[in-house]
Amino acid sequence: MAIKRICKYGEKVLEKKCRKVVFEDIKKELPALLADMFETMDAVGGAGLAANQIGLDLRLAVIKIQREGEEPLSLVIINPEMAEKSGSMYEDEGCLSFPGLFAKIRRAAKVKVRALNEKGLPIEINAEGLFAKALQHEMDHLDGVTFVSRLPLMSRLKLKPALMKLKAQWKKIDESKMKPM
Ligand SMILES: [Zn+2]
Repeated sequence: MAIKRICKYGEKVLEKKCRKVVFEDIKKELPALLADMFETMDAVGGAGLAANQIGLDLRLAVIKIQREGEEPLSLVIINPEMAEKSGSMYEDEGCLSFPGLFAKIRRAAKVKVRALNEKGLPIEINAEGLFAKALQHEMDHLDGVTFVSRLPLMSRLKLKPALMKLKAQWKKIDESKMKPM
């Protein structure tokens, strides 16, 4: 297992729609890849990580939700599709590709997602709250959409100077040099 460097805002791979996974083609490498993705996400305390955040053009992501006093909920989604969305929430969101930046983003409060799991089996996920937010955030990544592009135009413009400053610092952060927790 290895911690991978996480791609930061401004890197092209984050703005590209990821290629659909042919499960048979990646089946052999998948366990090692997923182990690396979970390790990378855990090292920085993230709730989700999409494959393109470590530079891979693959339509898959890992999610780990930690609720107080509960076992963490870990999930792999491959080729996820949004089946249903309802309600609305407006909560702070962050992203491992924008370390330390948080912004309030409007999301559906409840979602139903269909995907393949790590065994290549179809799964249907019903999620709400934090879990629904993580699913929408990671699925956006796979479409090349980052959370700041979900902000209204005015907020985006206001954020721009700060983003530019942070971008230069983020470039220097290399998670692969971190020690595993
Ligand atoms: Zn993100």
